[in-house]
Amino acid sequence: MSESDVMDGEQEVTNGGRDIDDVIEGSHDVAIVGGGVAGLSAGIFTARAGLDTLVVDDAERGSILRRNAHLENFPGFPAGVDTRLLLEMTKEQAERAGCTFLHGVVTGLREAEAETETGGFELALEGGETIDAERVIAASWADSSYLDGLGLEIDRRGSKGFVVEKDDDGPQAGHTGIEGLYAAGRIADQYHQAIVTAGHGARVGLTLVHDADVSLYHDWVAPAGYFTDRGREVPPGIEEIDEAERRQRERESMEVMREYFAEPHPDEPTPHPSLADDQ
Ligand SMILES: Cc1cc2nc3c(=O)[nH]c(=O)nc-3n(C[C@H](O)[C@H](O)[C@H](O)COP(=O)(O)OP(=O)(O)OC[C@H]3O[C@@H](n4cnc5c(N)ncnc54)[C@H](O)[C@@H]3O)c2cc1C
Repeated sequence: MSESDVMDGEQEVTNGGRDIDDVIEGSHDVAIVGGGVAGLSAGIFTARAGLDTLVVDDAERGSILRRNAHLENFPGFPAGVDTRLLLEMTKEQAERAGCTFLHGVVTGLREAEAETETGGFELALEGGETIDAERVIAASWADSSYLDGLGLEIDRRGSKGFVVEKDDDGPQAGHTGIEGLYAAGRIADQYHQAIVTAGHGARVGLTLVHDADVSLYHDWVAPAGYFTDRGREVPPGIEEIDEAERRQRERESMEVMREYFAEPHPDEPTPHPSLADDQ
């Protein structure tokens, strides 16, 4: 996300031409707090599985990855990549997957008492609005303050709070002990590395998809015939595409990447807050 997307504390919705009132007043299958690497990766999986996914991100704070000078250990970029660019590309990928984005700060979260599978959640925004969601992923490094009052186990280390995972359903799945509430990325005490937090976001997103009983075998795109030529139905979540479609998608990806990499990214690394305050 570029600095120009930030709207001076105003809320802004991107994707799908959705009206801001609809987004705030509607109820979402999934609300993700935080549009950094973990939150975006989680959203790619929940939205591709067909769940209405809203990512609420404090664009003024922004991902801590924006402070990096050059990212050299994220697979897929042999000579490294500018992190402001990587975040922008990943946000577009999440939008293409179907995520809706709302610029805003989540200040509170409470369990609602809806007659749904989990009972649902109500997220409070800084401006006083509230958002309803059936499931919530906290991916908001390094702010866990809005989780206070839920009775979660939070490991406090200095000014930072790490959500302690309750792994009854398998390790690293992001469960918090409250049904429907998950934690992903650095806030879930993952290694402070972008690929690890991204991978954890994906894992938590998929855990949520399975918990929500969405019929999904794997989120894969396979060449035509991969399953059907063996007399198998295409399993749920998998798409078989023919050669023309494969070539078309490859061309589109080449065009999109050429555009992203045509010029150096305009944004400078974000300074550490203590240095920014000195300026
Ligand atoms: C100087 C520096 C250099 C680094 N270099 C590397 C490197 O070279 N390689 C590497 O692998 N890792 C590097 N990292 C670490 C990497 O940036 C993190 O591990 C990773 O970004 C964590 O991902 P995350 O999604 O958990 O958190 P983030 O990427 O920080 O995302 C959290 C998001 O939550 C949002 N948010 C927070 N609170 C709220 C709220 N209340 N409401 C709404 N939104 C909220 C924030 O705006 C942010 O967008 C570096 C970190 C720093 C500081």
